[in-house]
Amino acid sequence: MNDYDAERIREILRRRGYQTTDDAEEADLVLLNTCSIREKAEAKVSSAAASFRGLKGRRPDVVLAVAGCVAQQEGARLLERLPQVDLVFGPDNIGRCADLVERVRESRRRVAVTDVIDVEDYTFLSADPRPEDVGTTVLVTIQKGCDNHCAYCVVPAVRGREVSRPLREVVAEVERFVAAGAREVTLIGQNVDSYRGAGGGTDDFVTLLVAVARVPGLLRLRFTTSHPRDFTPALARAFHDLPVLQGWLHLPVQAGSSRVLAAMGRGYTREEYLAKVDLVRGLVPEIALTTDVIVGFPGETADEHRETLSLLEAVEFESIYSFAYSARPGTPAAALRDDVPLEEKRARLHQVQALQQLVTARRLARLVGRRTPVLVEGESRRGEQVCGRTPGNIVVNFAPAAGTAPGSLRGRIVPVHVTAAGTHTLRGEPA
Ligand code: SF4
Repeated sequence: MNDYDAERIREILRRRGYQTTDDAEEADLVLLNTCSIREKAEAKVSSAAASFRGLKGRRPDVVLAVAGCVAQQEGARLLERLPQVDLVFGPDNIGRCADLVERVRESRRRVAVTDVIDVEDYTFLSADPRPEDVGTTVLVTIQKGCDNHCAYCVVPAVRGREVSRPLREVVAEVERFVAAGAREVTLIGQNVDSYRGAGGGTDDFVTLLVAVARVPGLLRLRFTTSHPRDFTPALARAFHDLPVLQGWLHLPVQAGSSRVLAAMGRGYTREEYLAKVDLVRGLVPEIALTTDVIVGFPGETADEHRETLSLLEAVEFESIYSFAYSARPGTPAAALRDDVPLEEKRARLHQVQALQQLVTARRLARLVGRRTPVLVEGESRRGEQVCGRTPGNIVVNFAPAAGTAPGSLRGRIVPVHVTAAGTHTLRGEPA
């Protein structure tokens, strides 16, 4: 979501004549786009801002801005704490960012803007892709905010109520990206399964997928993130029915114990989660599943933790994102007693990661010797190999056939024979 926002900020500023530079000494504006989902987000912003203190000392006219979810959460407090910061604005104010920068520059006053736009009035920023900036794979937002209340999560507080982007706008943006050279689109939202089209209407997520899948020239379609409670049989069937929809599903489970899931406010049980996995694997046996896991949620017992381990064993995810629980300010769980000691959380996280490493190795080993279509995204750093992804979103590196320039494969689907598996990636050769 932040990557998508950063691109829109870049486009808005570009239209006002700004260019990007790798050298901060050349900059008129330094913009930090922040995320508050991980721990110590605020401290990271402070240290990033502090690293520009010298620049601001030498060139006080440089505008230092902080955008994103930490900006939304902290607002004017950031201006108080970080004297070198001139401008703070939250995600709902991205559309005004060029005006805000000019206001700061002209008035020489420091500004914090954290207004949240009403659901009825919210309009999505439109991407304005240029072929020189567009990669093979791009993100397209279909939603903002979230109406769920998962106890640990800061997103509803910083991104506001859920709003779905009109179907026609999404399709038009995909068309623009494809015309500019993109070949794979990932539709993004906090809970794509609850997509409802314009004004809470009747265009559900499967209808949107069908419409996007029809865009000529689009080779691959993905989406993230699905909520297990809202994942429907119709969506499972879409993996089977839409050839362009790739066999990869990120379905965050968070915990393997139904009691912990209830305490987290997730709205499904272990059994219901496993039933959805069975449903989608029944229709698409080769689908790659990935997930998120939080260990050490307040009150999680050793037995409940073992339920997470057994779920990982039972499902066999391709890969996982795993975290030790820590409280986010303003979330319901922050009021709970954080009673799992840090050492214990670390030990549980280690167990989860060690187990998943074995499972991932098993899953990748299954692919060795097989042939798989790889969408080439770019050349390797040394330029001799290219890298791309399988339908299951696994990175594959391979050397192009003799006489084929690596650059010529970008954006093309190449059949690859998988020859070896690394820790997280595969190696292969053209089939
Ligand atoms: S579904 Fe839950 S975890 Fe995901 S963004 Fe919404 S509140 Fe956060």
